[in-house]
Amino acid sequence: MTTALYPPPCGEGRSAQRSGTGVATFISNAHHPAHSVRHPPHKREDKTAAEARAYVAAAAVPDPEIPVLTVEDLGILRSVTIEDGVAVARVTPTYTGCPAVLAIELAVEAALRDAGFEARVERVMSPAWTTDWITEEGRAKLKAYGIAPPAKASNSIRALFGETEVACPRCGSLETARISEFGSTACKALYRCEACHEPFDYFKCI
Ligand SMILES: [Zn+2]
Repeated sequence: MTTALYPPPCGEGRSAQRSGTGVATFISNAHHPAHSVRHPPHKREDKTAAEARAYVAAAAVPDPEIPVLTVEDLGILRSVTIEDGVAVARVTPTYTGCPAVLAIELAVEAALRDAGFEARVERVMSPAWTTDWITEEGRAKLKAYGIAPPAKASNSIRALFGETEVACPRCGSLETARISEFGSTACKALYRCEACHEPFDYFKCI
């Protein structure tokens, strides 16, 4: 009758792993393809093509607070250019003090690196961002997500008196009332629709 030792004594197990060339070879092979993905493509692309590709990579970064919106939908990605071989993305903060600002900048930089670029993100303060920079596509996405898109600079009577006309994202009724100045994040206010009685977030206008 043979008696096997389980688990094997520590020293024995370790030395077996270290000297096992099969293990080492497997690891280095597995690591290699993943590593090479991060290198820029072999073919030299011209600057315009590289800038377009860098823009697409940066533009697809989602907003951390409202993931249905990309930085392009929000209108905060101002430009992406290639300068001395570095992809430079210029991003404008949304709300000052919004904790998402730094997260967005880091995500844009990471997206550019993943696309094979050396990357830098510059914060651009001017012209300042307002909710008018949100694209039509972004507004449609917000509405589909159940968040009332911010009112555009309005010429309605209510707007003249400093009131915001907020349409219910579900039924479109303008008979809505603000319940709270702050919704799920500081950038949103909580409203309720008087027609369908549903509460909803309103992306605050600045
Ligand atoms: Zn409604």
